[in-house]
Amino acid sequence: MKLDFEKLRKEMVEQQIKNRGIEDEKVLNAFREVPREEFVEENYKSSSYDDGALPIGAGQTISQPYIVALMIDSLNLKPDEKVLEIGTGSGYAAAVLSRIVEEVYTIETIETLAQKAVKRFARLEYDNIEVKIGDGTLGWEENAPYDGIVVSAAAPHVPEALIKQLSDKGRIIIPVGERGGVQRLKVIKKDEEGKISEENLDYVRFVPLRGENGYR
Ligand code: SAH
Repeated sequence: MKLDFEKLRKEMVEQQIKNRGIEDEKVLNAFREVPREEFVEENYKSSSYDDGALPIGAGQTISQPYIVALMIDSLNLKPDEKVLEIGTGSGYAAAVLSRIVEEVYTIETIETLAQKAVKRFARLEYDNIEVKIGDGTLGWEENAPYDGIVVSAAAPHVPEALIKQLSDKGRIIIPVGERGGVQRLKVIKKDEEGKISEENLDYVRFVPLRGENGYR
């Protein structure tokens, strides 16, 4: 039987995202647009719209749709803003971000995953996403400052470089906590005077952020 991905996608947005309190139409429309089935491996395609994370190879996962939505929604993004994502993985979160803002930069340490993501963006003609292979805990200086930064892996603490590369009024969403355990999603905000504030959201479980300012 051929699956109706369009229908599954619409149901996913209604049931898993909208019904759980995400109201921003820009965010909902982005999830209505991006074909999640294009970001999972062949043998998991039928599970693309399940309410959970899925393996994407190299021991990594594509995050649960609701968690991606919660993280993106928490940044209150505007169309003319610039976003950096750490942990490209399949490229799904970056793809959703690219439907909301003008420019998306994303960094992945695992070369094979980064290369696959680049191919997916090309196939879908998402041409406002730039991918770099490297250590995202150091940020991406050349394109800074960023209005929003999404960290898609569990961090021991907020990497200093990311705070430095944030614009005035910039926001970071990041899961902070124990490796292999639960983490707390945190929103870090910089105000016009450069003052930093922190807010706690849900508890989550992410794969570890590696690198210089991650888990070594
Ligand atoms: N956003 C992804 C999910 C990523 S899972 C998606 O939508 O599919 C987390 C990813 O972070 C993994 O692919 C992992 O390899 C990557 N990662 C871990 N540490 C990193 C680092 N220091 N810099 C960049 N990527 C990192």
